[in-house]
Amino acid sequence: MPERVYNFSPGPGTLPYEVLQQAAKDVVNFNNIGIGLIEMSHRSKEFIAVTDTAEKLLRELLEIPDNYKVLFLQGGASSQFFMVPMNLLGEGKKAAYLNTGTWSKKSIKEAKLFGEIDVVYSSEDTIFDHVPTGDQYQVSDDAEYLYFVSNNTIYGTQFPEMPKSEKMLVSDMSSDILSRKFDVSKFGLIFAGAQKNMGPAGITIVIIRDDLLDRAGETVPTMLNYKTHADKGSMFNTPPCFGIYIVGEVLKWLKKNGGVEGIEKINREKAALLYNMIDSTDYYRGHAQKESRSMMNVNFNLPTPELEAKFIAEATTVGLNGLKGHRSIGGCRASIYNAFPREGVVKLVEFMKEFEANNPA
Ligand SMILES: *Cc1c(COP(=O)(O)O)cnc(C)c1O
Repeated sequence: MPERVYNFSPGPGTLPYEVLQQAAKDVVNFNNIGIGLIEMSHRSKEFIAVTDTAEKLLRELLEIPDNYKVLFLQGGASSQFFMVPMNLLGEGKKAAYLNTGTWSKKSIKEAKLFGEIDVVYSSEDTIFDHVPTGDQYQVSDDAEYLYFVSNNTIYGTQFPEMPKSEKMLVSDMSSDILSRKFDVSKFGLIFAGAQKNMGPAGITIVIIRDDLLDRAGETVPTMLNYKTHADKGSMFNTPPCFGIYIVGEVLKWLKKNGGVEGIEKINREKAALLYNMIDSTDYYRGHAQKESRSMMNVNFNLPTPELEAKFIAEATTVGLNGLKGHRSIGGCRASIYNAFPREGVVKLVEFMKEFEANNPA
């Protein structure tokens, strides 16, 4: 294996090395059929098998009930910010949103184009350092759904458990899907851009309860109507072929490594290593309040911005890449998605200790 650094990038994020190696072969010559994966017809029996495998594994790993459709779409997670309300709301309809970070804020802005949006909770006043508990907000009876972002990638917060509501839940799980167990049947719709925790950019997965497919009004364009894609098994037009293939390979890797339950255990261990380090000293300060800490994105600050810059630069020289926080809040952020190896977290913790000793505040 050639030199690979530990890649803490928030997204696109690190992928399993064995998946990249397999993909490198398949892109040139898929299954020895003499055609590369990304030059193959999406309607060929070979590629239909790729799509079927990805869907089957996703259903198995997330225990998706039969009355849900799985869609492989393009346009990024950001297109779901408008597709969700465009399809699920309508004249005079209302939805409740939890504002817990940049991605929910953007989603709220789009949703307001399609209906009445009740922002029932916001943690913006405290720089999105937490997510609410169920007793901190109320959803009105006439809301169609409760929308939330399960993991706030930029601020490093995560709902420790999925919110409970009488209403159906809708969630953007772009940065923590497949990282922990949850009950799909409580949701009307789940979406996730693949590039954080399950594949490359360019593919977005939507899991939608089938009774919701008939809700879209007549003015919804064909390509933006979930039903179009559900009716054609994501083959209404050319789907994101490469993305579907990589997601399938990542899911094979995940299944081999203990599935969602197995990876959740490892994810909890990885996050605990980092948070224990942060809690053991005043030198590093976590951004998220303890009850809201993310297992996927660990944000922390050093005593000064100068020390943070030095920390990030020196980390890079020892093979710890991508630790710079998002431009909107600065500081440091270690993104430790499913495919990020435990050894890399151990190495970061060692580096943090050394850096503190060598660079007193
Ligand atoms: C990265 C991210 C997005 C944006 O995804 P795009 O595919 O770039 O549109 C949306 N939501 C969350 C939670 C994210 O982490």
